[in-house]
Amino acid sequence: MPRALPRIPSSKPPTFQNLISQLNSCISTVNLRPLHAKILKTQFSKDHFLLTRIAHAYIRLNDLPPAKRILTKTVKNPPVFLWNETIKGYARNGLFRESIDLYYAMASCGVQPNEFTFTFVLPACAGARSVLDGRKVHDDVVRLNCESNVFVATAIIDMYGKCGEISLAREVFDKMPKRGTATFNAMIGGYVVNGECDKALSHFNQMQKSGIQADVITVVSVLQACAAQGALQQGRWIHEQIKRTKMEVNVYLGAALIHMYARCGSIEESWRVFDQMPRKDLICWTAIISGYGMHGFAEVAESLFVRMVGSGIRPDAVTFVGVLSGFSHGGMVDKGWQYFKKMLNEYSLRPGLEHYSCMVDMLGRAGRLEDAEGLVKTMAVEPDAGVWGGLLNACKIHRNVEMGERVVKEVLRVDPANAGWYVLMSNIYAMSGKWDGVAKMRLMMRERKVAKPPGWSSIEVAGQIHSFLAFDRSHPRSGEIYEFLKDLEDRMRLEGYVVETSCVLGNVDEELKEDMLCGHSERLAIAFGILSTEEGDVLRVMKNLRVCVDCHTATKFISKIARREIIVRDANRFHHFREGMCSCRDYW
Ligand code: ZN
Ligand code: ZN
Repeated sequence: MPRALPRIPSSKPPTFQNLISQLNSCISTVNLRPLHAKILKTQFSKDHFLLTRIAHAYIRLNDLPPAKRILTKTVKNPPVFLWNETIKGYARNGLFRESIDLYYAMASCGVQPNEFTFTFVLPACAGARSVLDGRKVHDDVVRLNCESNVFVATAIIDMYGKCGEISLAREVFDKMPKRGTATFNAMIGGYVVNGECDKALSHFNQMQKSGIQADVITVVSVLQACAAQGALQQGRWIHEQIKRTKMEVNVYLGAALIHMYARCGSIEESWRVFDQMPRKDLICWTAIISGYGMHGFAEVAESLFVRMVGSGIRPDAVTFVGVLSGFSHGGMVDKGWQYFKKMLNEYSLRPGLEHYSCMVDMLGRAGRLEDAEGLVKTMAVEPDAGVWGGLLNACKIHRNVEMGERVVKEVLRVDPANAGWYVLMSNIYAMSGKWDGVAKMRLMMRERKVAKPPGWSSIEVAGQIHSFLAFDRSHPRSGEIYEFLKDLEDRMRLEGYVVETSCVLGNVDEELKEDMLCGHSERLAIAFGILSTEEGDVLRVMKNLRVCVDCHTATKFISKIARREIIVRDANRFHHFREGMCSCRDYW
C-alpha cells in the first residue's frame, strides 16, 4: 500500500481547480489583480479557459479594460460569450462607443455575433444615439436571420425609437409574428420620446386588446404620454387599472402619477397620490414640489420643500428647479434669490441652465431687467435659448426695446431657426410703434426661411382629445363653436372687454396681425369645452405656445360669464382662471 504523500500546501503550486475557485470568490479587483498576476506566473498562464474566466471576473467586478486586453490581445480565438459579456459590460457602464467598437472588433476577428451579442450591442447604439451603427447591426441581424427573435427585435425597436427613427421602429414592430410586453414597451416608449403621444396611447390600447399584460414600465411610459397630451381622463383610467390589477405603486410609478395629474392640470389629484404613498422618497417629493411649482403655488411648494428636508431627505438639483419655478411663476423674487443661494451654499449644488432660466424669468417679470441681464452675464454655463428667451419675454412685458435688441441677437445666435423669437421681437417693436423694426424682423424671417410654428390648443372631452388650430374650421361642431364665441364676445363687451390692440395697431399687414393675436386657438377649445361638458365642470386646455395678451384677457371674462374654472397650460406655465381672475396675476 503506497504511503500518502505529506501535505505541504504552501509550497505546492495551485491546482487548476484551486485557481478557478479563487477567481470565483474574488469580491473586488483588489483581490483579482494580484491573483491575475499570480496566474500569469504559473503553468496555466496561457490556458485559454482560465484566461476567459479571469476576463469574466474582471467584467463581473466592472473593471473592463483588463477584460478587453485579454479579449483582444491575450486569448487566441476568444469564445463568443466573452465578447458578448465585454460588449454588455461596456454598454451597462454607459461606455457606448467602446461597446460598439468591440462589436466591430469581434467581426474583424472573424467571430460571428449571435442573438445575445445583438441584445447587448443594440442598447449601446441606442445609448450613443447612433442610428448609423444601429442600422449596421440591424443589417447583421437580418443577414444572420435573427430578426424573428423577440428579444433582438425588441432591442431594434428600442434602438430606433431612442435614435428618433420611430417609423423604422414601427416597421420592425409590424413585421413581428409575436409580441410581448417588452416589445410593446419599446414601441410605446419610442413614441413618447419622439413626442407622438397619441400613438403611444393607441398602442397601449392595442396592447390591452391583444391581452398582453402591461407592467410598471408600460404604465410609466403611458402616464408620460398622458401628461404630455394633457389627457387627464385617460390618465385617470390608467390609474384605475393600476388599482384594479393591484399593481405595486413603486416610487417611479408614484412619481409618474403625481407628474401626470399635475401636468394635466389636476394638482388636487397629484396631492392625493402623493399623500397615499407609503414611502416617500426624493423622486416623489420632487414630483409633488415641481407640480405645485408649475401651477404657481409657490408657498405650498416651499412648505413641502421644508417638510421634505425635515424628514431627512436631501434635495437635488431637480427639486430646486421645482421650487424656483414656483417662485418664478408666483413672482416671489426675494424667496427665489434665497433658494438660489441656498442651493450652492447649503447643498453644494451648482445651478444649471434651468435654475438660471427660473431666476431670469423671475427677475425679468418683476421688472428687474438689469439684474436679470447681469445674472446672465455671470453664468457659469453658456446661456441657452431658454435663458435668453426668458429675458426677451421680460423685455416684452416691460416694453424695453433697447435691451430687447441686445437680447434677440443672443437668442438668435443660439437658436436661429425658432420663429418664436422673431415674433416676440416684432411684438416688442410693435408695442412701441417701431414699425420699421417690425418690418426688419419680418424680412429676417423671410430671408432665413423660418416659419412660425402653428399655434394649436387642445381639450379632452369624454376621453377624446380635440385639437384646434388657429382659425380652425375643421371640427364637426365648428358652426356651433363660432356662433357661441360670437355670442360670448357680445356678452364680454357688455362686461367691459376691449380687444387688446396694443400689439396690432399701426401699419402691420393682416398676416402679422393674425400671428400676433395667435389666432385664438384656445378660444375655440374653450368654447367647445363649454358646449360639450356639464355646467360647473372644470375646463383644462393645453396650448403649444405662450398664451397671448388678448386671449388671456378674454379667458378671464369667459371664466366669469360662463361661471367655469378654466385651467390653461401654455408653453411656459399654468393659468388658473376663475371668476374673472387669473392665478398668474397677469404676469407671464
Ligand atoms: Zn391669443
Ligand atoms: Zn394667467
